[in-house]
Amino acid sequence: MVIDLSSKCALITGGGRGIGREIALTLANTKCSVAVSDIDIEAARGTAREIEALGVKSLAVKADAANADEVNTMFKVVMEHMGSLDILINNAGITRDTLLIRMKEEDWDLVLKVNLKSAFLCSKEAAKIMVKARSGKIINIASIVGLMGNYGQANYSASKAGLIGLTKTTAKELATRSITVNAIAPGFIKTAMTDTLSDAEKQKLLEKIPMQKLGTAADVAHTVLFLASSLADYITGQVLTVDGGLVM
Ligand code: NAP
Repeated sequence: MVIDLSSKCALITGGGRGIGREIALTLANTKCSVAVSDIDIEAARGTAREIEALGVKSLAVKADAANADEVNTMFKVVMEHMGSLDILINNAGITRDTLLIRMKEEDWDLVLKVNLKSAFLCSKEAAKIMVKARSGKIINIASIVGLMGNYGQANYSASKAGLIGLTKTTAKELATRSITVNAIAPGFIKTAMTDTLSDAEKQKLLEKIPMQKLGTAADVAHTVLFLASSLADYITGQVLTVDGGLVM
């Protein structure tokens, strides 16, 4: 079965680069219209241009996904230009890593705000639209670190564990309206972040991963595509790990 999302419209936060950009392009390859939001408007415009080059409708929107006023404006602009919203991907995320005893309160607050509050704000606005439509898909990009913890990531792991809790509650509250809400928990994905690891650090990491390789942004994007499609209509409140078997 070929996935065809040509009648659908998606909004992705943090879609200017990395995993978010890959998700946006993967959805667009199935003819899904995509509104690309990012705090960095030039990056969002870059992804939107790539989507338009595929002959698919796109829109770049500048918004800090953790700022309520900017999120409200973003949803207004998306509805004005795209006309509907069927799929929301809460992808914007940051790290501010250091050991707990050295972690500054401001770095705790910022990571919780960008990784967790943003998903609350965007899910709330999307839910208003999707409840009226009696359908929708919300996909939250969490992390395996939210399931198992990680040295130096007290703030990040707490934000991703919180995102998993938000996923499950939202899934329960919206289920009778045929809106599904799921989380994806990527493991170690080959991105700018993991490129900075030394060869020794990479080797240590690979020894722990049963498949003995890092994942790609495409591995995450393909999982989003499945959850966003009608193939996953009866799946809600789940956390799908995309990690080469690291967490099982
Ligand atoms: P990335 O390359 O840093 O991309 C994140 C994008 O989000 C950037 O364009 C960034 O803009 C934007 N952004 C940051 N703060 C924002 C805000 N407040 N509002 C809107 N946009 C904002 O990150 P990534 O590696 O692709 O990660 C994407 C998601 O996957 C994150 O939620 C991350 O936690 C999760 N994840 C990643 C990995 C991995 O191995 N990379 C593993 C597990 C989970 P700026 O560039 O201007 O900051």
